[in-house]
Amino acid sequence: MTTHPCLSCGACCASFRVDFSVYESEDMGGPVPQGLVVALTEHLARMRGTDHARPRCAALTGQVGQQAACGIYEWRPSPCREFEAGSEACNRARQRHGLPALEGLV
Ligand code: SF4
Ligand code: SF4
Repeated sequence: MTTHPCLSCGACCASFRVDFSVYESEDMGGPVPQGLVVALTEHLARMRGTDHARPRCAALTGQVGQQAACGIYEWRPSPCREFEAGSEACNRARQRHGLPALEGLV
């Protein structure tokens, strides 16, 4: 049995801005806990911490490249749900954190 590479990674959660519709936030009836949401505009929200000079989502637990997990996995916003391990963006994030590229996962 192999362990999923994301469990020892977390690089994407510490590389990019994570923006999503305000309707995904708790206050608007969505799943994303309000304390982790930064309101941007009337329509757009952002995961707290992802627009820092050295981005790191406030929901990320553990250490990037060692052991990492999303603290709100069941309630994470759509960009996180759609992000694909082994994609070009995934490998860019991994490279940024000194991790080797992944082959595409099915
Ligand atoms: S950068 Fe890729 S491998 Fe790492 S946690 Fe994100 S999707 Fe998974
Ligand atoms: S909400 Fe979870 S999956 Fe999305 S960026 Fe933050 S830690 Fe990563």
